[in-house]
Amino acid sequence: MSITILPIPLDSDFSPANIPFGVFRDGETTSGCSRIGDYIIDLHVCQEYGIFEDLRLPKNIFFNRPLNDFMSLGKEVTKEVRQTIMSTFILDGQLAINDIWPIEMFRKAGSVQMVLPITIGDYTDFYSSKEHATNVGIMFRDPKNALLPNWLHIPVGYHGRSSSIVVSGTEVHRPNGQTIQGNDTSPTYGPSRQVDFELEMAFVIGKNSGLGQPIGINEAESYIFGLMLFNDWSARDIQKWEYVPLGPFLAKNFASTLSPWIITMESLEPFKVEAQPREKPILPYLESSQNCNYDIHLEVAIETEGNSETVVTRSNFKYLYWSMIQQLAHHTVNGCNVRVGDLLASGTISGPHEGSYGSMLEIAWKGTKPVPMKDGTTRIFIQDGDTVKLKGWAGNGSSRVGFGECEGKLIPALNT
Ligand code: MN
Repeated sequence: MSITILPIPLDSDFSPANIPFGVFRDGETTSGCSRIGDYIIDLHVCQEYGIFEDLRLPKNIFFNRPLNDFMSLGKEVTKEVRQTIMSTFILDGQLAINDIWPIEMFRKAGSVQMVLPITIGDYTDFYSSKEHATNVGIMFRDPKNALLPNWLHIPVGYHGRSSSIVVSGTEVHRPNGQTIQGNDTSPTYGPSRQVDFELEMAFVIGKNSGLGQPIGINEAESYIFGLMLFNDWSARDIQKWEYVPLGPFLAKNFASTLSPWIITMESLEPFKVEAQPREKPILPYLESSQNCNYDIHLEVAIETEGNSETVVTRSNFKYLYWSMIQQLAHHTVNGCNVRVGDLLASGTISGPHEGSYGSMLEIAWKGTKPVPMKDGTTRIFIQDGDTVKLKGWAGNGSSRVGFGECEGKLIPALNT
């Protein structure tokens, strides 16, 4: 028996401190997996080989199915699986492969296709960044009363649609729809001219709650399995025409891009930070003494055709005014239940200064400040052929917990 050591690149999102969960496809087979450095670990093969023997997992829990059943086992079990992956495969901070293990236990990242790791049930999108809500309020309503009266009291949200959430790497068609052009008073039909990204973080529900039973703020975290990067593609011109009085509809549900790895709450625990200060008192059901924000660096780059990449914003998850546990407590306070596999997204995460805004609408300030690209062109919104790339990471070096890729290329509208 001998051991092969595979060094983990220093800037890897997948340091030994991460150990995320995902699902890959290889031909007809899909399998639950984790990742260390540049290698994907097939958890079904691990189970077959007896790596998780002591944990008494149900047979085939990772085989040909999404992670919903695995998450349903509960955190007592899923935490143990994560710990076992760490203790089995990591030696002195590097990936250590024992030559008695089957070779198919490990795949080089990029050699297999990552797929959506969960069957997404219900999807809800919040509006939890004060800076984003303020910027939008200034642009479209009244600079003096940019925030609506409810905003500092309620984590505002709307029910979205899960059918069009796609995994990183999936191309997105520019949507067609109704818009008002120029000074027209009636709409025309055609491709949106204002396709935008929204830099968001989504969290995955890992435990069912009961209908009629609110989740208290102090137990909310136990319902969250992990986090994923989320680009909530938005067509601003369609949105502008349709959103009164019931809110976003076709401007949002044509596609959203999700990163393939679920980053666990356990791995993010060291990066917890205090909540943003309250500007107005909030109702007791939203109040928590816990640190409930996370210091996660966020970045968006646009890759134009010809492969040159321009970073257009740098933000941070900690800027959110309403935390995930506040979103979840509010979502269920009326008795609405959540189910394993539900996805709740933060809303666009903008920071307090220029350079940290989370959408092109804000970065180019409603088209008034074109953003220079490295290839010499400019952008006010996303053009056909552009690839939007979200990145997120906490910590650095051997403690870095990154989110992997969340990319999507915008391609021309279908001719309908
Ligand atoms: Mn959104």
